[in-house]
Amino acid sequence: MVLEEKTTPVAGKGQVVVAVKSCGLCGSERDNYINGYMHHQGHEVAGVVTQVGTDVTNVRPGDRVVVYLTSFCGECTYCQQGLTTMCLNYPEKENLGWAYPGGFAEYLVTNAQNALPLDEELSFEDGVLLLDTLGTPFHGLRLARAEEAETALVVGCGTVGLGTVLILKALGVREVYATDLSPFRLEMAQELGAVPLKVPETPVLDFVKEKTGVGVDLAVEAVGNPSTLVQAIKAVRFGGVVLGLGEQPDDFSLEIDLEMRLKDLVTIRSWYFPVKEYFENMKLMKGGFFANKDKLVTARFPLEEMQTACDLFYEGKTNGKVLINFS
Ligand SMILES: [Zn+2]
Ligand SMILES: [Zn+2]
Repeated sequence: MVLEEKTTPVAGKGQVVVAVKSCGLCGSERDNYINGYMHHQGHEVAGVVTQVGTDVTNVRPGDRVVVYLTSFCGECTYCQQGLTTMCLNYPEKENLGWAYPGGFAEYLVTNAQNALPLDEELSFEDGVLLLDTLGTPFHGLRLARAEEAETALVVGCGTVGLGTVLILKALGVREVYATDLSPFRLEMAQELGAVPLKVPETPVLDFVKEKTGVGVDLAVEAVGNPSTLVQAIKAVRFGGVVLGLGEQPDDFSLEIDLEMRLKDLVTIRSWYFPVKEYFENMKLMKGGFFANKDKLVTARFPLEEMQTACDLFYEGKTNGKVLINFS
């Protein structure tokens, strides 16, 4: 990582400039971190609006905001229902940090409607957590009607997996099992209320069978690997629900056997979350629903120490969210 001096961006029509206060590192940026990319990333951003362009009415300079990842038109049939991830006019998506420079910088420029208000009672770090760490899993878990599950398996305890564990416990799911290769992340999963399973030492399917007899009600894949998705499908009971949250490769195939085909299972795939759920989740956070949220952030660095932050995060030496904070 190198630090560069650049001119402060200027807001064009319908845009705002945000002074970044906190930005999370995310596993989805790994490939670009390793291979290089056309500009800096950072898409889990909370900050303060410093400048608005013409035609901006939803925010003003000084407003505390989070930045919503993906561009949306605000007018199509889905956007009008608040289902912004399905926007018909951005079928290919235009994401912060990919389509345009992200939050690993003092300032960023984004579409005004992507700047969502952050409640005064919540911190900037809370704002970051409301994005990928809690918003992404909660959207999938709502679709999966996770509150009806008594037993659940979370495959992979990166920050989305850990957010999943936290929400499942908050929803009252009795038994949550969590797997990961990293002992650090498993320790955190356990702290959040899960029964940890160190893989590959503990064969997941034997464990699940032994604990439940029939398999779990709900299995969540939060790795983004075809083999762990197969594991999730194998782990659910007859009539169970499989939720795929991990970002699988663009082209992938699954090895499905007869037992899996006969399971009568429900499979759900979701990514990120619609804007309307951000407001619901913010209200829940204010009410204390995400009781263990403060455990999720385990390291904070200034931008000058970005390389140290990346080393820690990408080498799997930390068990939670790594943030770049700005004073
Ligand atoms: Zn992310
Ligand atoms: Zn739209």
